[in-house]
Amino acid sequence: MSKKIIKAIRGINDILPTQTPLWQHIEVILRQVVESYGYKEIRLPLLEMTELFSRSIGEVTDIVEKEMFSFIDRNNDSLTLRPEGTACCVRAGIENGLFYNQIQRLWYIGPMFRHERPQQGRYRQFHQIGAEAYGIASPDIDVEMILITARFWQKLGLKNLELQINSLGNTNARMIYRQQLLDYFSGHYEQLDTDSQRRLQTNPLRILDSKNPDMHPLIESAPKLLDYLDNESKEDFAILQQLLDEVNITYQVNPRLVRGLDYYNKTVFEWLTKDLGAQGTVCAGGRYDKLVGQLGGKQATPAVGFAMGLERLIILLAQESAFEIPNKLPQVYFVTMGAKAVQKTFSLSELLRNELPQLRLVTHCGGGSFKSQFKQADKSGAKIAIILGEDEVEKQQVTIKHLREKNRSQLSIAQSELVNYLKSII
Ligand code: ATP
Ligand code: MG
Repeated sequence: MSKKIIKAIRGINDILPTQTPLWQHIEVILRQVVESYGYKEIRLPLLEMTELFSRSIGEVTDIVEKEMFSFIDRNNDSLTLRPEGTACCVRAGIENGLFYNQIQRLWYIGPMFRHERPQQGRYRQFHQIGAEAYGIASPDIDVEMILITARFWQKLGLKNLELQINSLGNTNARMIYRQQLLDYFSGHYEQLDTDSQRRLQTNPLRILDSKNPDMHPLIESAPKLLDYLDNESKEDFAILQQLLDEVNITYQVNPRLVRGLDYYNKTVFEWLTKDLGAQGTVCAGGRYDKLVGQLGGKQATPAVGFAMGLERLIILLAQESAFEIPNKLPQVYFVTMGAKAVQKTFSLSELLRNELPQLRLVTHCGGGSFKSQFKQADKSGAKIAIILGEDEVEKQQVTIKHLREKNRSQLSIAQSELVNYLKSII
């Protein structure tokens, strides 16, 4: 049998125990923020029918054309590891009757999968937190989405994020604009890269989303969607801006912001940073009023949402000198020696965990000399060791050793005093 080491798939990473405290810390903050706006968590499957994504995100988009992990299963169904959460959320909402005559504020968190070229801030498995609101057509709920995300930055202590907004208008306005773009880009056909040439016929709006810097001057001079907006979208966009001004959220209107998914209309927004190189978008969202209907929902349901990439957030936080990674090391390591002591160790350890729910206590297992046990206690990062030997069992005491002090001071206390003693020092 081959002994070759099996490695993880490129772009699909482990999150190691040294990193999980930071992830947990961020997750707690994000969860608190979304819940403080009354959003309820929805847990969605990782696997869906491929058609869900091709019909919602759009056939001619980066995600559906080249980034999905799709496969044929044993029943000959085409399945896809979800590349994003919105389509899944809409599917679940329709299927479970969550949208019918109801307003829903939902949020989700979890891994997403896209077959992209792995690089800093871009992976094949990555994590998103997202929120979606259903049943509200007015732009006040768009503002709520932006406020939630602004509160994320505030709670995490991130300052260098810039908000960009745009309106994509209604379907009709986009049809008219599409023709304008088609004419414009056709007139500059030779300047288009192959991707854009291909998209010209199928989905010219996508050209605006091009990541190729050579395309940017041409895109910069293209007709602007804002000049073709329908009246309702124009009004909503004005209200959105007034409301943002009212709550002192600064933003830039970026007329070329189209987002990489087809289902958006009216408001779209992105939070950007210059601190992540090419992967500058940390969070993105917008309105998708037609998607519920498009996926078979019986009742037209206006909707808006955002998704944020956690890996990019983590890279940003790691760059913040002021940000402290929370310490999840054990505070106490329980050293034990001799058959009688081992018997007593578990009952004492359990008692401590009962009485001190915040305590992180490692009970030594696996025997060994005092010397080797103390080595492990030191390595664990614990501040103090509790020592229980035959002698201590006899006297109903424990010995406490302060592992992080220079002289590693030691004292004996009654077992009955242990809870109070630990309370006073952790
Ligand atoms: P980009 O333009 O960087 O490819 P996108 O427009 O494809 O992003 P969305 O589909 O809107 O991104 O997803 C929302 C957020 O999810 C992004 O802003 C980013 O933070 C994160 N994200 C998207 N793709 C990846 C990835 N491959 N790896 C890590 N994070 C990602
Ligand atoms: Mg992308």
